[in-house]
Amino acid sequence: MVNKDRILDEFIRLVKIDSPTMHEREIADYLKGKLSALGLEVYEDGAGDVIGTEWGNPAGNLIATLKHTVPGAPAILLCAHMDTVEPGRGVNPIVKDGAVYSDGTTVLGSDDKAGIAAILEAIQVLKEQDLPHGDIEVVFTVAEEGGLRGAKNLDYKRLKSRFAYVLDCDGAAGTIITRAPAQYRIKSSIIGKAAHAGISPEDGINAIYIASKAISQMQLGRIDEETTANIGVISGGKATNIIPDLVNIEGETRSIDTEKLEKQTDRIVEILKKTAREFGAQVKVEKDFLYPRLKLDETDTAVVIAMEAALAIGRKPVLAGTGGGSDANILNGYGIPTVNLGIGMSKVHSTEEYITIDNLVLNAQYLLEIIKSAAKKRNSESG
Ligand SMILES: [Zn+2]
Repeated sequence: MVNKDRILDEFIRLVKIDSPTMHEREIADYLKGKLSALGLEVYEDGAGDVIGTEWGNPAGNLIATLKHTVPGAPAILLCAHMDTVEPGRGVNPIVKDGAVYSDGTTVLGSDDKAGIAAILEAIQVLKEQDLPHGDIEVVFTVAEEGGLRGAKNLDYKRLKSRFAYVLDCDGAAGTIITRAPAQYRIKSSIIGKAAHAGISPEDGINAIYIASKAISQMQLGRIDEETTANIGVISGGKATNIIPDLVNIEGETRSIDTEKLEKQTDRIVEILKKTAREFGAQVKVEKDFLYPRLKLDETDTAVVIAMEAALAIGRKPVLAGTGGGSDANILNGYGIPTVNLGIGMSKVHSTEEYITIDNLVLNAQYLLEIIKSAAKKRNSESG
């Protein structure tokens, strides 16, 4: 049912449109036309204006609706992001040995244009074959790679779906991400006192020394199965003959368990404050909650349907966790149970990124089964 040539052509067309984060205007306009031609009602929300760009006319998220053919079937949301990481301009896709690669100078952008292509193809087939379905809401977000800012500013009151699928994960169709951590970013400045290192070191307070004392007391890396912590950036000092009066430290904590996340974050904040105090320095610490966790179990409708659909295309469903965040975290945070689906992209965020044509086709087949399964479920439930 899925048209292999058509989805490959569409995928190639999509990756050829430059869309690095915050430069999604061209692809948003293209997709608006595409979705309208497929009979969806398309709306662009105001996220672009909220996020703001320096170059003007920023694109917002696209929210498109395909009206149901089965009355009473649950509305489902399909989501992929329009932006890509750099180097992502002037992508020159090369089809070789059943897969699509970049020419090695840019990423390919299968992250996440493979997701977009799957959604477009699935809807095309739905229409062609006149397959029964409930309301389908399609959301194409901006700035996913820039801190999930599109999803964070999505116009949620326009959505009515009871559950959602984000197509944005490695692992082939059948990989169902049901767990992903929440994250805090921690930013801290230790403010000591400058002095001449040779003439009057006793007048100084060495911020680098204090930072190292503090960091050495922190538990970092993998804290437990659900929790990680990292100090990733440290900067400070001007010259070897000056006692450094300022060090900036940036780190993060992640956990699938909300309580553990709070505890681990507070511990790092506390160590920074206590150590600075001990040495008579001042300290500023900020913690920013970046996104909530994703945690569904196998009885949640979204997961049940994804598993059924995997079996229907002859794949073994694999429920998995990830250490990274995605739009699925944000959608969950807004009360829409959402899983992130594997779409078979490989080596993303690198110039070696590729995806096989088989996976492009499989993704569209998988989505069709999800849509079918969703439509049936509600029908049988309501008798
Ligand atoms: Zn992605």
